[in-house]
Amino acid sequence: MPERVYNNGRGIRVEVDIDTCTACELCYERLPEVFVNRGDGLPLVMIRCNLERVLEELLKVAEDCPSGSIIVS
Ligand code: SF4
Repeated sequence: MPERVYNNGRGIRVEVDIDTCTACELCYERLPEVFVNRGDGLPLVMIRCNLERVLEELLKVAEDCPSGSIIVS
């Protein structure tokens, strides 16, 4: 079950499945506008920008997540 689900009101949802996340740090290192280390290495989704502006990078980060824990829909 995803830890966080975010909908920016324009139909973009970002989810992180904490159960499968390996805390590799990739997502919040590459896209700190969206992902934040919650303190134990696992990311929280904290949208601090217009998602549409970073959508291309967001999709790349989701694709590069080694455990497939980021779902953008
Ligand atoms: S990139 Fe994926 S595995 Fe790495 S910290 Fe983020 S959600 Fe977890």
